[in-house]
Amino acid sequence: MAKITLPDGSILEVADGTTVAQLAEQIGPGLAKAAVAAKINGHLADLSTPISGEAAIQIITVKDNEGLEVMRHSCAHIMAEAICRIWPATKLVYGPTVEDGFYYDVDLDEPIRPSDFERIEQQMTEIVKADRPFVRREMTRAEALKKLAADKYKTDNINRADSEVISFYSHGDHFEDLCRGPHVPSTAKAGFAKVMSVAGAYWHGDPTQKMLQRVYGTAWPTQKQLDDYLHRLDEARRRDHRLLGKQLDLFSFDEAGPGFAFIHAKGMIIWNAIVDFWRGVHNRYGYEEIRTPIILNEQLWHRSGHWDNYKENMYFTRFDDASYAIKPMNCPGGCLVYKTRQHSYREFPMRVAELGLVHRHEASGVMHGLFRVRQFTQDDAHIFCTPEQIESEIIGVIELTFEIYKAFGFEDFHLELSTKPEKHIGSDEIWETATNALKEALRRKAIEYKINEGDGAFYGPKIDFHIRDCLKRSWQLGTIQLDFSMPARFGLVYTDKDNTEKPPVMIHRAVLGSFERFIGILIEHYGASFPLWLAPEQVRILPISEKTNDYARQVEARLKGAKLRCGCDFSNEKIAAKIARAHSERLPYMLVVGPKEAQSNSVNVRVRGGQENKTVGIDEFLSIAGRIIADKEIDLAF
Ligand SMILES: [Zn+2]
Ligand SMILES: [Zn+2]
Repeated sequence: MAKITLPDGSILEVADGTTVAQLAEQIGPGLAKAAVAAKINGHLADLSTPISGEAAIQIITVKDNEGLEVMRHSCAHIMAEAICRIWPATKLVYGPTVEDGFYYDVDLDEPIRPSDFERIEQQMTEIVKADRPFVRREMTRAEALKKLAADKYKTDNINRADSEVISFYSHGDHFEDLCRGPHVPSTAKAGFAKVMSVAGAYWHGDPTQKMLQRVYGTAWPTQKQLDDYLHRLDEARRRDHRLLGKQLDLFSFDEAGPGFAFIHAKGMIIWNAIVDFWRGVHNRYGYEEIRTPIILNEQLWHRSGHWDNYKENMYFTRFDDASYAIKPMNCPGGCLVYKTRQHSYREFPMRVAELGLVHRHEASGVMHGLFRVRQFTQDDAHIFCTPEQIESEIIGVIELTFEIYKAFGFEDFHLELSTKPEKHIGSDEIWETATNALKEALRRKAIEYKINEGDGAFYGPKIDFHIRDCLKRSWQLGTIQLDFSMPARFGLVYTDKDNTEKPPVMIHRAVLGSFERFIGILIEHYGASFPLWLAPEQVRILPISEKTNDYARQVEARLKGAKLRCGCDFSNEKIAAKIARAHSERLPYMLVVGPKEAQSNSVNVRVRGGQENKTVGIDEFLSIAGRIIADKEIDLAF
């Protein structure tokens, strides 16, 4: 008998040789139907795998990320067969999954064009409909090498495999591919797929090798999920911050400074609104703010370690016969400020923020609007504290970070903790204290997180914050990073209770990361329909005709007195045209004023995106708008 432990801890006994699929059937027909693969003692496996002895088994469905990946990878096989059916000369190279989908690299001299995608999809649909089982066949490495001797790509794949048993998967009689697996039990379970794009890719990313064709696809468990995904992609194209930024006059780029953003007046209004809010929150959380120079002597960067580890990304300049670097990070400047006086444990924790302008030389190929730039403003801070204070400081940073994200309407975030890598500095003891403090802080805040074992920086463990925008795209924004290296490099000390000098714990942290990039994310997240507190122009007054221009000016003066950002549209156009223009510029509020409003000291309010209008007194409008701004409400409803 095989003894099986299920994820809920219950134990099931089945005959040796029972397959995972049969086990799923025994647990419940619903689960058996949904199952696509299994985890046996932590390893992914096919449902057809026989079980024996003692095993911990988890049935995987497409609701699990791993199940989704198995499904998508199975689609890669199906797409490969479809391509081979259409172009029999195709040589298959490698077909892994990527976020939201998969690709297959193929060696085929005839170019695959977007106009071919439909043909490929038709073949895929046929294969899926045929409901053919995925069947695993194993052989020794030597047998596999002999079988594929004529195929240099697959031979290379075998040589790279770490197992002595090499497996092949077929689905149907005419298609077999070398693969480690697992796969869904049959092609009918491969979901709903679409071929997305094709691009050139060198074999092993090596430009001296042949250029292959990389065909990308996406796959989802249901047609609806596929449609939703395609809709999100469309929406993302429509919201592209580079287009909206130009259309709404927020920022630009010029070849005079590739990767250096020019922020226009309207963009600066958004920028400054974020800075004001950011300062207010940091003030409340006990931060002080400094500013350090952007050009500093090269020697400083030798001392900080950036010269050895980061030189390729730095800009340099020379004057007065000395070499200087333009700062890629704010930390060394922060250390110099710390060193200007003595410190005692009594003043710890010391939280020092800096909106620091940094320059990092990114390759020109990776530049992408505000998302990837060479000059940006980091919302940096350094916390100096004792080892005992790490945990409470981390909790403080987490609370501050969540408060800031929520103000922008980001509610969906996840955290990742990266721990001690093999190559590291600092004693095991300090690593353990620090890592435990990070874990304990996360536990006390009841935050679920992913651990990336061994993925910390060589100088300390870190926590990264990721958010999801309204299109479900994930962005890494914030980071908390402990540093056991820099205080020693700069000889930073504080006087402890026992009157001895000790190096402080240094915590680097950023919440938004880069202001430029964050504003790019906001533009796409909101589709440039900014909440009232961020909108460059919050209200526009639209007089119906010249006769009410004077009243419009009076209303404008009242609004400006209440610190609302507003203007009047005195053009000669009809009121409908004025309204249409304000809508297209994504104005939150339009106040239409005619003789009736002038007489009753009121305004006729239209809300962005809405059809209705409502007449209210000026005072009432001011009080509602004031509340929406103060509460940072996303909803403009009146
Ligand atoms: Zn495979
Ligand atoms: Zn730093």
